[in-house]
Amino acid sequence: MITIDGSEGEGGGQVLRYAAALSLLTGEPFTITNIRGGRAKPGLMRQHVTALEAAAAIGSAECSGLAVGSSDLSFRPGSVVPGEYHFAIGTAGSTALVVQTVLLPLMLADAPSRIVIEGGTHAASAPPFEFLAHTLLPVLTRMGPRLSVSLERHGFYPRGGGRIVLDIAPAPLTPIECIERGAFHSGKVEALIAGIPFDIADRELKTARKVLADWPEDAFAPVQLPADHGPGNALLITAECEHVTEVMSAFGQIGIPAERLAKTAAKRMAGYLASGAFAGPYLQDQLLLPFACAGAGAFTTVKLSEHTRTAAALIARFTGRAFAFREDAEGRWLASLG
Ligand code: AMP
Repeated sequence: MITIDGSEGEGGGQVLRYAAALSLLTGEPFTITNIRGGRAKPGLMRQHVTALEAAAAIGSAECSGLAVGSSDLSFRPGSVVPGEYHFAIGTAGSTALVVQTVLLPLMLADAPSRIVIEGGTHAASAPPFEFLAHTLLPVLTRMGPRLSVSLERHGFYPRGGGRIVLDIAPAPLTPIECIERGAFHSGKVEALIAGIPFDIADRELKTARKVLADWPEDAFAPVQLPADHGPGNALLITAECEHVTEVMSAFGQIGIPAERLAKTAAKRMAGYLASGAFAGPYLQDQLLLPFACAGAGAFTTVKLSEHTRTAAALIARFTGRAFAFREDAEGRWLASLG
């Protein structure tokens, strides 16, 4: 039995999601206290409850303490059963973060799975659908399993109502090295708007163009979604390179000027491109679990995030596998295992 203090390290929902995934992968039960103790509103939110319900459902697990607001729970895994599942978050809580919880156990199961998840697809502090589809899953596919995800409907904060479908054809994981991103092929900046004034997309695109000044004019485009998918807004900045596609994002928020959100996301992309690293600031923590399951591998990344350090420490506790991190002469970080 592993005991975790959920306020340690990054202190957010990722600790809990990774603990559930690691528990299913290793067969090791865990208890966690001070769940999301590092957040302004600690305890389980609706999306974390659904993520843990999903882990318990696919892994025949017993889980106690699972309720909105709860700060302690215990989880005892059973065997992973692949198949067809449907999980509805009921809020704009992130569908991609439910994927983060169940993906690895199902990628290593003995038969395919199809998972339908309803909730948020484009909301703050979580991967947007496009990151899942174009950044994370293509890297994992290189390790062996076949993975595809489709977006049936957008879900923005606060309404939610989005829907994604994930197909997983398992295979043993082959270690990979993701050192060079290769040549830059193309960049695009899309401002998604649903049921809100067009002017917001316009201002976001103008701001992003000032930062990504060497991208061609036709790389910047508004995308008008049906009004009933909203209200909502997301800015998606995609760089397609030879070996990886990175997606940086920003999500419209009442009270925060569109220009400020767009500038932050565009600068993040510019920083990533200047770094020469393979993985951007969010891909890095999401590669650790698959690489740990493969037992070896390496990738380069930008400055290490607290999410990455926290995930690496948790992985070491469950599996005994410890990543080594070191900075190279150009300021890129190398994460390696085995
Ligand atoms: P937590 O904050 O603990 O709930 O964890 C959030 C997770 O979502 C981490 O795995 C982050 O890397 C990931 N994440 C947050 N924002 C983004 C983003 N804009 N793009 C991709 N992944 C993200």
